[in-house]
Amino acid sequence: MPTPRLLLVAACALIDADNRILLTERPAGKSLAGLWEFPGGKVEAGETPEETLIRELREEIGVETKADCLAPLTFASHTYEDFHLLMPLYVCRRFEGIARGLEGQQIKWVRAADLRAYPMPPADLPLIPFLVDLL
Ligand code: C5P
Repeated sequence: MPTPRLLLVAACALIDADNRILLTERPAGKSLAGLWEFPGGKVEAGETPEETLIRELREEIGVETKADCLAPLTFASHTYEDFHLLMPLYVCRRFEGIARGLEGQQIKWVRAADLRAYPMPPADLPLIPFLVDLL
């Protein structure tokens, strides 16, 4: 059996002053559309995961942050049908701007204890207990 392709995606738990976490809805037309996820995206060649997150947070939700405001918490490792996903999860409490869905996607600030009420991609689900413990 061939080894599945490895995909590196960086994700971020953006946390507001009320200790709520930002979830964004995957837009129609994308894989796993309608599911809720921690914002982020694919790490492009030549990028660090922190650089990916700075770029993606700016592009997707209009928030500015810096590498030293991004702290790694844990990572997801999940085999999908046609690739294996490795996804470090960072925590960010220091950012500027008011988050909004710049790509037409819905966003929601959610308490850690309520994260399970939102349907998420299977790779993201094992990340929830780490955030519950943290907050
Ligand atoms: O966001 P993007 O479509 O670039 O992500 C590539 C793939 O990584 C998705 O198709 C999805 O299977 C997976 N993914 C995930 N959880 C996320 C982000 C992406 O499982 N939070």
